[in-house]
Amino acid sequence: MADGLSRLVSATKYTGPEPVLGITAPNIRKELQHWACREQWRQWRDATTFCLAKQLLRQVDLSFTKYAVRLSRADLRILTGLLTGHADLNWHLTLMQIRTDAACPLCQEDEETVLHLLGECSTLSAKRLSILGYPYLSYEELGRMHWCALLRFAKASQ
Ligand SMILES: [Zn+2]
Repeated sequence: MADGLSRLVSATKYTGPEPVLGITAPNIRKELQHWACREQWRQWRDATTFCLAKQLLRQVDLSFTKYAVRLSRADLRILTGLLTGHADLNWHLTLMQIRTDAACPLCQEDEETVLHLLGECSTLSAKRLSILGYPYLSYEELGRMHWCALLRFAKASQ
């Protein structure tokens, strides 16, 4: 049966645009998705801006993306703020001229930035140890953590 169908198909004259390519639609779709992912990553890597976000977004990871799109709008807003630096933290609010003091309200030791909140604030070291496993973290170490852990710590720090 299969051989008969195969012979029939190969003997049938092709109708459609020439030249005929032996590529299936799913293969084309898959290759386009890979190309788009590689191209986005290349543009991200070559961009000279987004310094803060580049420190936390070091690699393409589809599982991180899938995690983010399932978040509630409020949690996604917090995560986006952490990853881009555009968070409700005194450093950014001072930059936007909403606040006048960029100092951390918890420790008063440094400016309240994303790195300070997630990795450096001494007041949060015990909480950081219990949630993230370390009392202090660098941007490089934070960049290797799953966004789930970063979001959990940020929400616990509020
Ligand atoms: Zn602090």
